[in-house]
Amino acid sequence: DSNFQPSYLAKLNVGQRAAVEHGGGGIAGPLLIIAGAGSGKTNTLAHRVAHLIVNGADPRRILLMTFSRRAAAEMTRRVERIAGEVLGDKASIVKDGLNWAGTFHAIGARLLRDYALDIGLDPAFTIHDREDSADLMNLVRHELGFSRTESRFPTKGTCLAIYSRAVNAQEPLDDVLRKSFPWCRNWTMALTQLFAGYVEAKQTENVLDYDDLLLYWAEMAKEAAIAEHLASRFDHILVDEYQDTNRLQASILLALKPDGNGLTVVGDDAQSIYSFRAAEVRNILEFPHQFARPAEVVTLDQNYRSTDAILAAANAVIGQAAERFTKNLWTERRSEEKPRLVTVRDEADQANFVCETVLQEREAGTALKAQAVLFRASHHSGPVEVELTRRNIPFVKFGGLKFLDSAHVKDVLAVLRLVENPRDRVTGFRVLQLLPGVGPSTAGAVMEAMATSLDAVLGLSAARVPQRTEAVWPAFVELFTGLRDRSSWPADLERVRLWYEPHLDRIHEDATTRRADLLQLEQIASGYGSRERFLTDLTLDPPDATSDQAGPPHLDEDYLILSTIHSAKGQEWKNVFVLNAVDGCIPIDLATGEEADIEEERRLLYVAMTRAKDSLHLVTPQRFYTHGQASRGDRHVYASRTRFIPASILENFSQVSWSDRRDPRAGAARPEVQVDLGARMRGLWK
Ligand code: ATP
Ligand code: MG
Repeated sequence: DSNFQPSYLAKLNVGQRAAVEHGGGGIAGPLLIIAGAGSGKTNTLAHRVAHLIVNGADPRRILLMTFSRRAAAEMTRRVERIAGEVLGDKASIVKDGLNWAGTFHAIGARLLRDYALDIGLDPAFTIHDREDSADLMNLVRHELGFSRTESRFPTKGTCLAIYSRAVNAQEPLDDVLRKSFPWCRNWTMALTQLFAGYVEAKQTENVLDYDDLLLYWAEMAKEAAIAEHLASRFDHILVDEYQDTNRLQASILLALKPDGNGLTVVGDDAQSIYSFRAAEVRNILEFPHQFARPAEVVTLDQNYRSTDAILAAANAVIGQAAERFTKNLWTERRSEEKPRLVTVRDEADQANFVCETVLQEREAGTALKAQAVLFRASHHSGPVEVELTRRNIPFVKFGGLKFLDSAHVKDVLAVLRLVENPRDRVTGFRVLQLLPGVGPSTAGAVMEAMATSLDAVLGLSAARVPQRTEAVWPAFVELFTGLRDRSSWPADLERVRLWYEPHLDRIHEDATTRRADLLQLEQIASGYGSRERFLTDLTLDPPDATSDQAGPPHLDEDYLILSTIHSAKGQEWKNVFVLNAVDGCIPIDLATGEEADIEEERRLLYVAMTRAKDSLHLVTPQRFYTHGQASRGDRHVYASRTRFIPASILENFSQVSWSDRRDPRAGAARPEVQVDLGARMRGLWK
């Protein structure tokens, strides 16, 4: 019946529906959805994918790229639900078939393994996270002698940042240094040499860093034969949050779909917040004219997420931007409740305010899960985490996660990675030095032997390792051989833990909590079909940390969301708190900020505010602790309200000041003395 209209279409507005139906369910010309926060972009994308599948597209031939693994999983669930309306029982083809959904990096890793043999890569390559990459950069830096001969040579972190920017922005080193690292311009020659060494080291060791996953993909797609093969794999390619992609990612899309047919990208230029990772807002602005046939452009202007009071405040903030964003969002959701600007004395009070308000809202019927606390950087939530823990309020923290960064978790994963790829030196150093008596030089010698033949190393008689190591060497060799020969996933991980536990007690304090982390890791591993997939996923997009040492909260439990603003992208909650809405935090570091950076900070606040559906609190502590910014060190500073809310737009907020009622100091007047006890203490020694 050609008049049949699935009911999911009826729920969409005119623009959304045009985007969903663009091309009539077949392969269509390029499509761009560019629209403001909460206007249903992601929702429209999910409908479009469902609509394609309902109209016969093969889910296995759809490539869906989102900015996190979580977003991809969420999208897949939604598509299944929407398509289920028409497909009924057959909707399981979505879950079973839509398996090319993930981040650019994760998809890149899979494709590179697929084509490894065609492009001169060993398919057993392992992936370095940023820390490993910095360590390898450091190793090469030492080997080239820069750290010794050249005083004040850029740190390993800076070197990696420069390298990474040059790769992602696809810009010559000179330009990168001039624009973003002017204080390193004297080092152009040395850096060029260093990066050449770094690239060579990665190849010798068969490791790829994050940037390589995009770079190799882009380069591979330049080979006509591979490009054709790749392009024919995917009928449809859809990308969410396109404003935060970089030049390399755009070039990959172009190589995959040179005519743009089958390509849909979605985004909001007012929410571009990743330029520090070389994201390029021009990608989305240039998209319409990139192809022989101009792209269809759909804009959406109705916001379905927030109340008019919240939207007015968010619009006022972005309305002050130097750059004009043409979108004018409106909403039908009326509310008298303006977003609140809450002044508190310091970060401790901020934590108390958040906890009390969260509990009040829960009393009033808003589940913890429907509430989120957002902050600029991971460490800003410290005081809130402490207070939540003290009050037994469960929470999950997204972004900037510490779980996988913790040494013991990395140790255990490193063992698995070394088995996968014995040439990886950074990993080898890490693992071998877990053994008592093994220092960098022994580790280096063993790694060198390993590079030629793993068996030679494993066959090393205990007599040839340092004396202190003799006793533990056989167990290590046995573990290694076992993992290699009879690998049985996910039991491998347990074997590593059992081997590691005696060392754990020796190397780290609080072995008990650390052991709990390792059990949690085994829990996570049980959800993976293969060791390789587990290692890749964890390296690229770590799971979220929780307040609960025993493991992530069960899905039916209620927990508060803590998230960096960057990781909150695309999400929404009924009640949102934004911590530290003060100058020095949002925007961060006014001293070195260039105009463009400040503008990105404004968009960051805009992204944070537009996460809220019903109520929004921007908290401004009058005293605020800064962490070593711009070499000024850690210190308390007196802070004032963020410059992004100037007096001229204050009318969009209701201003309240909050003080801790349980704090006996709050009511009483301050004592009228001024003493400097520090001077007195120093005086004691004069
Ligand atoms: P962001 O810019 O933050 O990523 P977005 O544009 O992707 O936002 P969505 O997350 O897709 O917006 O949608 C925001 C909210 O609006 C969601 O709760 C979604 O279910 C709802 N929504 C979207 N379209 C409609 C519609 N036509 N009718 C009712 N609700 C809608
Ligand atoms: Mg979205």
